[in-house]
Amino acid sequence: MLTVSKSEELFGKAQTLMPGGVNSPVRAFGSVGGTPRFITSAKGAYLYDADGQDYVDLVCSWGPALLGHAHPEVLDAVHSAVDRGLSFGASTPDEAELAELVLARVPAVERLRMVSTGTEATMTAVRLARGFTGRDLVIKFAGCYHGHVDSLLAAAGSGLATLAMPGSAGVTAATAAETLVLPYNDLTAVREAFAVHGSRIAAVITEAAPANMGVVTPVEGFNAALATITKENGALLILDEVLTGFRVGPAGYWGLTGQGSEAEAWTPDLLTFGKVIGGGLPTAALGGRAEVMDYLAPLGPVYQAGTLSGNPVAMAAGVATLKAATAEVYAAVDARSLELSSALSQALDAAGVAHSIQRAGNLFSVAFGVAEVANYAQAQAQEAFRYAPFFHSMLDAGVYLPPSVFEAWFLSAAHDDAAMNRIFEALPAAAQAAAEA
Ligand code: PMP
Repeated sequence: MLTVSKSEELFGKAQTLMPGGVNSPVRAFGSVGGTPRFITSAKGAYLYDADGQDYVDLVCSWGPALLGHAHPEVLDAVHSAVDRGLSFGASTPDEAELAELVLARVPAVERLRMVSTGTEATMTAVRLARGFTGRDLVIKFAGCYHGHVDSLLAAAGSGLATLAMPGSAGVTAATAAETLVLPYNDLTAVREAFAVHGSRIAAVITEAAPANMGVVTPVEGFNAALATITKENGALLILDEVLTGFRVGPAGYWGLTGQGSEAEAWTPDLLTFGKVIGGGLPTAALGGRAEVMDYLAPLGPVYQAGTLSGNPVAMAAGVATLKAATAEVYAAVDARSLELSSALSQALDAAGVAHSIQRAGNLFSVAFGVAEVANYAQAQAQEAFRYAPFFHSMLDAGVYLPPSVFEAWFLSAAHDDAAMNRIFEALPAAAQAAAEA
């Protein structure tokens, strides 16, 4: 067992100051138990905790740290931005530079608006879709998480999956009634919903590839069919790439699957981004067709604003991150992801643990005791109890996994052979712990 006395002390204090001692629920280690590690610094592939231990990080700040922590080029850009002042509440050259980088990478984006969190991006996208179409209903899929927007919290994944919460108290019945929740990967359910409510549906919102109920691969043609069905019915498709954007490839999951030959190509009306776009600082964005985006104020009637939107320090981090996220970076992360997922699968096979490796681009997760997970019901039916002993065995060996089986594993371009070897060496004992659970 690693020493946790400092983390224990800090967690004890934090619990008297903040609800559950945390500022985001999954950090509390609720479903895996034990003491959350209090992190004091991070560099490359490693996290360092208050007790002086280091961990190979497979959370990567839940996505942003694509290049690894404290990447020198990103730090240089941030330091130089800080020296010029922290926030101006006015337009800056850097925000246009970041927008230009995004538009160049993701041709489905003709206009971009910066916000501060993924939640704001999806909240604004939904409002914009309603304003543009003049309709009220939104379809979301069970197990997809789009941030803590009232109307999108029903059957959401992420922390709600971890805590087994069907939704959130404090969301009015009237708000909940404006969201239709359908099973993921089920086009029949989508067609039926449009057949019944078509003229009232403003938008379908979907994770480009779900990664908040564990990772789930969209069945071939699923997103393309959503684009077709929404178009035929005068509704919009909102593709949530907060997690996948700029992580699974230079143009996100849409870039991997949407930009095919003309017959296969499909285009969402709106896309949301977060995480990697801010390189570790609080920036997110929504973008899409100019005709729709121009419905936002000051041009259009849909209001949205933010004191810290396009914050100059965050813009500098985003610009530096996207510039450094080269084809080589994606190739390295893809290769590490394949290496790790196959080593994980081999270790679990050797320990006799039935499992499914769930993949979407370089994101993956493990589901125990099931052959495949295609939707939220299947994700919830897995042997989730095997994860806590697996997680703690890895943690004791100096590997920091997401503290929930319903989250994706994140790699970075800084995960070198030494970091990978520590993970590989830890896997057999963790697999054995999962087998004995
Ligand atoms: N959408 C998706 C797909 C996400 O994974 C998340 C966060 N994990 C969000 C939206 C919300 O982003 P934020 O936490 O920045 O509000």
